[in-house]
Amino acid sequence: MRTLDLIACLTPALLSVACAGDIQSGDHESAQPLHASAERVLAFVGGQWFTGTAFEERTAFAVDGVLTFMQPARVDSTIHLAGGYVVPPFGDAHNHNVEHSSRIMATIEQYLRDGVFYVKNPNNLPRTRHPLDGTINVPTSMDVAFANGGLTAPDGHPIPLVRRNIERGIWTEVDGEGAFYFVVDEEEDLDRIWLRVLEDRPDFLKTYLLYSEDYARRVDDPAFFGWKGLDPTLLPEIVRRAHDAGLRVSTHVETATDFHHALVAGVDEIAHMPGFRGNAQVQLPDPSIFEISEADARMASHLGTVVVTTVGGVRGMDPRGPDGSLRRQFDRLHTRNLRLLSEHSVRLALGSDDYGDTSVGEAMYLHSLGVFDNLAMLKLWSEATPQAIFPERALGCLQEGCEASFLVLRGDPLADFGHVRDIVLRVKQGQILSSPVSE
Ligand SMILES: [Zn+2]
Repeated sequence: MRTLDLIACLTPALLSVACAGDIQSGDHESAQPLHASAERVLAFVGGQWFTGTAFEERTAFAVDGVLTFMQPARVDSTIHLAGGYVVPPFGDAHNHNVEHSSRIMATIEQYLRDGVFYVKNPNNLPRTRHPLDGTINVPTSMDVAFANGGLTAPDGHPIPLVRRNIERGIWTEVDGEGAFYFVVDEEEDLDRIWLRVLEDRPDFLKTYLLYSEDYARRVDDPAFFGWKGLDPTLLPEIVRRAHDAGLRVSTHVETATDFHHALVAGVDEIAHMPGFRGNAQVQLPDPSIFEISEADARMASHLGTVVVTTVGGVRGMDPRGPDGSLRRQFDRLHTRNLRLLSEHSVRLALGSDDYGDTSVGEAMYLHSLGVFDNLAMLKLWSEATPQAIFPERALGCLQEGCEASFLVLRGDPLADFGHVRDIVLRVKQGQILSSPVSE
C-alpha cells in the first residue's frame, strides 16, 4: 500500500506531478484527455466532507468507483486531503459546446479543470455526438446527456442557425430537418417523425416554445423566422409520447406564458428562465411578459418541474457602461423570478447556455444576484444540477453508495464561495484525475 500526501499537492502546479501523476496507470486510451489511476480501492483521510448542510471530517473510501465510509478489507492507496473541503462535482444543465470539433479536447479539459463533470446538451447534431463515444461518458472524462434534434414549428427556433451553418458550408441539408431539428406543425407530424427521433437514441427530448401567447399570429408570418415555436396545444401529446418511450422532456421558453404552457403540458424541465435574453433586440421594453406568476411557481413546485437558469448571458453588459440601465433591468427581472421560484421551493438547475464557457460564469453571476447564500449556491451547483442531468444515477451526493466522484477545495466554500474556483484534487468514479495542463 502506498500513501499519497495531498499537502504536497497544495501547490497547484504539483497536482499532476507529485500527486495523481504518481499513480497513473499506463493503459488508458490516448483519446482521453486526463490520466487516471487504475487502483480499485482508495482511502481518503483528513478531508472535510460536505454533508448537505455543513462540512464534517470523515475518512472515506472509493471501492470500484463507489463511495463508502466503511473500512474495506484492502486499501490500495491512501490519499491525505490535508483538511481540504470535499464537495460533489458541479454540473452545467444547458450547454451546446460538447460536440465533436477540433476544440473538443480543450473543451473537455476546461470542464474537468473547472470541476464541471456533468453536462446536458439540449440540442445537438447527432453526427457530432457519436464520434465522442469512449472520449466522454467514461470514468476518466466528463459525462454528457444529449437531446439530439429538437421539436419546433416550421421556420421556428433554432432553424436560422442551421441555415447559417449550411450557407457557411459547415453543414449540409441533411443536418437540418430530421437531424438538428424536427418540424411539427400538427399532430400527424408526430407519427411521421417519431421513429426517426427515437432511432438516434436521445437521452431526453427537447421541444421549443417561443411567444406561444402569440402563436396564431406568428405561425405563418415570415417576419418571425426563428422567433416561433411549437403550437402549445401539441405539447401535452408530445410529452405523453416521450414519457411512453421513457424520455424526459425539456422545453425551451421565452416568456412567462411559455413557462405556463410548458408546466401544464407536464414537461419535466424548463430550459431557460423567461426573459433570459429579453426580446429579439435583447431589450426588455415590457418586463412583465417575462414575470412568472405566483400560481405557476406553486404549480412548478407541486409538479417537481426542474427550471434551468441560463441567465448569466447578461454579465457581458457592464453595469457601469452604456448598457448599465439595461443590465440592471435584467438583474431585477432575474432576481425577482429566481426569488419567487426559490420561495416556492421549485427545483432549480444551473445551466449556462454559454458556448465559450463552462457553468462557472453562470454560477458567479447567480451568486452576485444575492438570491442564494453560499450554502444554497453550493447545493444548486453540486447537488441539484448533476441530479437534474442524470436523475437515474447516485451522484450529486457524498453519502454511502454514491458514485465516488468529488472535488477537493483548498478552502471552505460556505465561508467564501470563491473557493469553488480553487480545486486541488478531482476524483471521478473512484479515479483520480490529473490534468496535464498547468493550472
Ligand atoms: Zn440552448
